[in-house]
Amino acid sequence: MSRRSLHTPAPDAAALRARLHRAAKAAAAADTDALLVAPGSDLRYLLGQAGGSFERLTTLVVPAEGTPALVVPKLEAPGYADVPTDELGIEVLTWVDGDDAYRLVADRLGKPGRVAVSDFTPALHVLALRTALGDAEQTLAGPIVRELRTRKDAAEIDALRAAGAAIDRVHARVGEWLRAGRTEAEVGADIAAAIVEEGHDHADFVIVGSGPNGASPHHDVSGRVIERGDVVVVDIGGPLPDGYNSDSTRTYTIGEPRDADVADTYAVLQRAQQAAVDAVRPGVTAEQVDAAARDVIEAAGFGEYFIHRTGHGIGLDVHEEPYIIAGNTLPLEAGMAFSVEPGIYQPGRWGARIEDIVVVTGNGVEAVNTRPHELVVLDA
Ligand code: ZN
Ligand code: ZN
Ligand code: ZN
Repeated sequence: MSRRSLHTPAPDAAALRARLHRAAKAAAAADTDALLVAPGSDLRYLLGQAGGSFERLTTLVVPAEGTPALVVPKLEAPGYADVPTDELGIEVLTWVDGDDAYRLVADRLGKPGRVAVSDFTPALHVLALRTALGDAEQTLAGPIVRELRTRKDAAEIDALRAAGAAIDRVHARVGEWLRAGRTEAEVGADIAAAIVEEGHDHADFVIVGSGPNGASPHHDVSGRVIERGDVVVVDIGGPLPDGYNSDSTRTYTIGEPRDADVADTYAVLQRAQQAAVDAVRPGVTAEQVDAAARDVIEAAGFGEYFIHRTGHGIGLDVHEEPYIIAGNTLPLEAGMAFSVEPGIYQPGRWGARIEDIVVVTGNGVEAVNTRPHELVVLDA
């Protein structure tokens, strides 16, 4: 969360008004008197602007019935000038240092029985609200807001397609920078610059996992010098200016791979990733997609080397619902978007992952990443 996203393209007022309305209805359906939405992706979803979270309270109060209010410190209110609050029917309640902002929220809500706070609300605000709201039960807003955010509209899907195309252009250029004799950090810095050049607001993460580092799925970059014969996992992404994220992994080798088992193992991974993508359609459960990838990897004897879930939802957050994991019986619906990213990790030796973002369509699946899935053999 940062201030950098304050002035960027936002959905039009009609779309935002519809979201606010649906949020209020979802709160009512969950027997919740109000949502208290903190700065971050939930706020961006509802207002078109993420704002920033600081020690001073900013919260969007969305009552199940009645007029929403944006409670914001007077000195930070100018940051919300682009939000069409009048058209959205949002009252702006500013406060100054010395005021009790939590009391402002409590007065607004009367005597609520239950309020839902955004999942990533700082604890200092959560606890102060608890005190101000007396007997009100506090719950998480995540399960309520997720009802909206997991079902993406056409504009959001377009945004994810644009993000996918942008990160694909970066992967297409990785051979410019990834070669023997350079450190992961040097390669990562070049990739980060290209992520911005190709249209992102910033690079959110750049994983360059060479050789044994590739066996650590959330490796970052290190000072390791890349060698001829290394297998290298490159997992990169970030938000476009509109806030929607890219996230894609391809696996490269520097010349022909050093280890004799790479080709056969990678072929298993490729089949697993394809099996999972092929399984995606409305009505299939999230865990069935996970199983589709996992079954292929387990059948080939690599089950113990696939050490994470198959995927995660993506949108205004890089990781959001729905999670593609055993135990998640959520039936997929058109408009859901998530990664399909199985990996096989050989501890101490090398790792590989293939990751595309896919969208559930009316009768199947669309991948927003379209780079080839084969192991990319680069000049050493
Ligand atoms: Zn991850
Ligand atoms: Zn991912
Ligand atoms: Zn990734």
